Amino acid sequence: MLEKLKASGELIANFFKRPVTVKESFGFVAEAFRWLPRRNDDLCTGCGACVERCSSGATSITDRGDTRVVSIDGLRCIFCGRCAEVCPEKALELTLEDAPPAQGSDPTARVSLSRGAEEPRPTVDTVLKLQRCSVCGEVMPVTEKYLDAIKERTLRNLKPETAAIVEKDMERYLKTCINCRRVHSLEWDTHPRKFI
Ligand code: SF4
Ligand code: SF4
Repeated sequence: MLEKLKASGELIANFFKRPVTVKESFGFVAEAFRWLPRRNDDLCTGCGACVERCSSGATSITDRGDTRVVSIDGLRCIFCGRCAEVCPEKALELTLEDAPPAQGSDPTARVSLSRGAEEPRPTVDTVLKLQRCSVCGEVMPVTEKYLDAIKERTLRNLKPETAAIVEKDMERYLKTCINCRRVHSLEWDTHPRKFI
């Protein structure tokens, strides 16, 4: 009984107190809002560095058949920008919107504030082709584009005369699966130490 009386007293007293909350943003509205990263499909090699770095588990890689999909789940992303920071190809950029996204807006570019279950799940996907082994034809867990980027970067750092010698061997070595490399690399003389 005493507890009930105390609670009622508090309730009545609170009617006459000033509110303990304040108006959101004190009436100030930020000029821009940071949202989902956008990925430049032409630059992304599917290397997976962004997946390793994403602490909220929003970024993922899915290999199916000879295709890799690099994806960002808009409902998990916290817009921290770490993925853009580590991307070696500078393929990611955090989007800036000039107003809070409205419910029902373009789901591929924005996240609804309400995050309602009926909303389509916003994602940012890039589809890439996985490399097939040049000997046995097995799909390798790496994209064609990534291997081309590695090759190009390595050759760029070699003297032109050295690059001309190793280019063909390097192509063969990189695009061969681990099993076939084990069998053929000595026979082909494509052991990595040759490239050093
Ligand atoms: S290139 Fe950039 S965006 Fe593409 S998978 Fe690698 S880190 Fe992610
Ligand atoms: S912005 Fe942050 S949370 Fe969103 S995908 Fe990139 S690393 Fe993950």
